[in-house]
Amino acid sequence: MRVVQRQSRSHLVGFILATLILSVGAGLSGCGLSGCALLGGGQPSAQQLGTRDGFDWSEVRTAHFTIHYEPEASGAGRLDEVGRDAEESLDRILRFLGEDGYERPLDLFIVPSRERMVDLLGVQTNGIAFPETGVLVFLVNDGFRISARHELLHVVAMNVWGKPDLWVNEGVAVCVSDVWYGHPLHGLARHLQEGEHRIPLTELTQKFEKQDDRISYPLAGSFVQFIEESWGRNGVRAAWDGGMDGLTRFTGKSAKQLEDGWFGALDAATADRIEYP
Ligand SMILES: [Zn+2]
Repeated sequence: MRVVQRQSRSHLVGFILATLILSVGAGLSGCGLSGCALLGGGQPSAQQLGTRDGFDWSEVRTAHFTIHYEPEASGAGRLDEVGRDAEESLDRILRFLGEDGYERPLDLFIVPSRERMVDLLGVQTNGIAFPETGVLVFLVNDGFRISARHELLHVVAMNVWGKPDLWVNEGVAVCVSDVWYGHPLHGLARHLQEGEHRIPLTELTQKFEKQDDRISYPLAGSFVQFIEESWGRNGVRAAWDGGMDGLTRFTGKSAKQLEDGWFGALDAATADRIEYP
């Protein structure tokens, strides 16, 4: 569930390989930064994906989305659900961001399996976002459906707020989804920070890419939730615009003080009966 930010080609290819190995090995829901290098260019447009060999797309429209699907594929009967979730997700995101509306095109492709995801993009993932082209690709079949909210946050927020540090981008996407694998964020973060998987805030924010996604994503989500609870949207925006430096300037607190405050908030959450990862 990563977002495609602009990367140099060599970094991107290396990251795709690493992600493929990670995703296959651990069955993670996270996606590669992008399959776009494999398509030979920038982020794929809806037109490029819509004319890929081996795919026979049909489409339906909602108020804000064009949903592309394969009529014969598993999950094609869930288009109403997919469209409703996408519209509700957009509404929630715009309220979080404090925006009145979003008028750019949004194209949502649904594929029935990770194998078809590889056929389309060259990466194993449950969901991926291409903010520059407004394209999202999700895994949906008769037994599984990923919500649009996480990936859509990347697309909408990067178009209206600009490009942030990765930890903020992922943290806000997790925060706006409210839970991580069904667990409330603060409860899960307390469980992780009190156990063997703890990550100090400086490590989390300075070396986000080097952490285990299963740990770093929910922790970043909880930290962003703490920012939002403490300083509201303006605090989140300060982190989005300026990373930890922007956040310390805005709050007048050091990174250590922010970490102490976050851990204090976690102390009030219950971590009982959480088994994760
Ligand atoms: Zn993400």
